[in-house]
Amino acid sequence: MESYWQRAQNVLPGGVNSPVRSFKGVGGEPFFVKRGQGPYLFDDQGRQYIDFVMSYGPLILGHAHPKVVAAVSEQATQGLSYGAPTDLEVEMAETLVQAVPGLEMVRMVNSGTEATMAAIRVARGVTGRDRILKFAGSYHGHGDSLLVKAGSGAATMGVPDSLGVPKALAELTLTVPYNDVDALRTVFNAVGDQIAAVIMEPVAGNMGTVLPQPGFLDTVRQLTRQYGALWIVDEVMTGFRVAWGGASRLFGLEPDLVCLAKVIGAGMPVGAYGGKKSYMQEVAPLGPVYQAGTLSGNPVAMAAGLAQLHEIHQPDFYSQLEQKTRTLAEELVARGRAHGIAVSANTIGGMFTLFFSDMPPRNFDEVSHSDHARYRKFFHGMLEQGVFFPPSPFETAFPSWAHTEATIQATLEAADRVFQQL
Ligand code: PMP
Repeated sequence: MESYWQRAQNVLPGGVNSPVRSFKGVGGEPFFVKRGQGPYLFDDQGRQYIDFVMSYGPLILGHAHPKVVAAVSEQATQGLSYGAPTDLEVEMAETLVQAVPGLEMVRMVNSGTEATMAAIRVARGVTGRDRILKFAGSYHGHGDSLLVKAGSGAATMGVPDSLGVPKALAELTLTVPYNDVDALRTVFNAVGDQIAAVIMEPVAGNMGTVLPQPGFLDTVRQLTRQYGALWIVDEVMTGFRVAWGGASRLFGLEPDLVCLAKVIGAGMPVGAYGGKKSYMQEVAPLGPVYQAGTLSGNPVAMAAGLAQLHEIHQPDFYSQLEQKTRTLAEELVARGRAHGIAVSANTIGGMFTLFFSDMPPRNFDEVSHSDHARYRKFFHGMLEQGVFFPPSPFETAFPSWAHTEATIQATLEAADRVFQQL
């Protein structure tokens, strides 16, 4: 009998609905998920995995958290979508506006991709400029303007500059290396008055986790102000993942526009973009920048997101998550090094990446020079031990509230056995 993986490849490109799921970055065949519970995934062969992919970030409480499941079930009995306003949308918008600096008005959408596409449209609309600037190895979804030197799956698949993006559009996207203030200054000196916006991950997560170096974010803010460009802080991954209110709140940033998704949707298809009222008032129906969505602000999705946000908004939630993440990352590095392996990690909040390199990378180039062959071996070794790490060296791992001390210890013991074979 044909397996689901064989059947999948006949009817889905590469057998998947998002490239990284294919395991092309690490080789081998993906497993098929039957269910998730807390920190665990269970596949259709009855195998159990400690999950550090966590749907690539949304599941900060773990799989199938009872409060989130209850909120979804309850809302579902009241209807799945209306095409008319609901209280839930207002509650979500108010929650986000209260939490995120610079967010005065927000529009809900259905994915991170939609959020970044719309934010760029707003920036181009209000500035009357066409060029945008992004950082090499950052990923901001698959909008045409953003698939230029893109990270995440685009880097893993070897297509950072996608075919099918009109040349005329790609040429409007400038790129500089992450953390490179000199390169940034040079570009702004040359064409700063043509740049509508800088879009960036305040902590890069799509080249693996890469932290902003001291002064980097300040320089971006200063240059965008000086040249009249908007600063779009893409917090799709970092939003409510590194801190309540995201990296903007953690670092005290003053973004013009912010993009959100993942954690605010708790695993439902949700995104959001927003910022200063003066900019968001340009969005239809108030203004001439058009953006819309049949399922935007979907009541089931809003109920899920609100339940999760409510649950995590308590003192100590993030300090505990960060502590857990840091312990895991630091212990992995220590144990790897004890086996003579060159390994390092970048960590913040509930995000970390293990790199097979002496020093923690500071940009995409340095990530590219880490030992990817070793990462692949590590990934498969861990999978055999029942631990699911991201299937690419260009991704971030996401511990959750549900990852107990015991799950962390089990992961470290598995890693000890795997490091021995590397
Ligand atoms: N921006 C960032 C920073 C992301 O990490 C991602 C997805 N990983 C996106 C945008 C795109 O989001 P989505 O996959 O929901 O379209």
